[in-house]
Amino acid sequence: MAKERIALFGGTFDPIHLGHTGVAARAVEHIGAQKVVFIPAKRSPLKGFLPVASDEDRLRMIALAIAGSASFEVSDCELRKAAPSYSLETVRQFQTDYGGESSLFWLIGADSVDDLTHWYRITDLIDTCVVSTMYRAGCEPPDFTRFEPIWGRERVEKLRKNVVETPLIDISSTEIRSRLAAGDDADDMLHPAVADYIRERGLYRSKAAL
Ligand code: ATP
Repeated sequence: MAKERIALFGGTFDPIHLGHTGVAARAVEHIGAQKVVFIPAKRSPLKGFLPVASDEDRLRMIALAIAGSASFEVSDCELRKAAPSYSLETVRQFQTDYGGESSLFWLIGADSVDDLTHWYRITDLIDTCVVSTMYRAGCEPPDFTRFEPIWGRERVEKLRKNVVETPLIDISSTEIRSRLAAGDDADDMLHPAVADYIRERGLYRSKAAL
């Protein structure tokens, strides 16, 4: 019997937006995965700043955004750890939890491709799971050719084969935070329940939050 496929989607989700859920919906279909698990990070090891919203708020916004989507789940496994975690450690944790019964995919947006060389033990991550790269509005289609001399042909071929042509949804959390800090709304970029939650809690209102 074919192994169950699970896609893991890490990020700061500060806040989660319709770009995240839109591309994840396409990825789950393309991969033939049973589900996508959204995994908010305590902080991004590569972003020079902390998330603006608290761990709890980010987690709750994800729960609101995915409620009603049978193939979406959220995990707080990275938030529960004291130190920031790396994707490789999270994948290994899921491998242990699922006992080898599942094939794991790690989703990234095309904007992350340039950063990959800075990821913690990136070659181990590529070997341990299937890194699936999704298209992102404003970015070139993912191209891994330049990594061939350092990662080798097989890994680059694996990355190339697992690109997912997701719809181009021109939304970023940065744009949402900056609109909200300017006193504007960002309702067109957010799930309505997330937009309400942000309003009720007065999140992202301060310019210092940028
Ligand atoms: P920020 O603007 O704060 O950097 P972001 O919108 O890029 O945030 P993250 O939480 O950092 O969101 O993203 C998590 C993952 O989702 C990353 O791999 C990112 O590339 C991907 N991603 C985010 N938005 C999109 C989008 N609109 N289309 C495709 N991928 C996306």
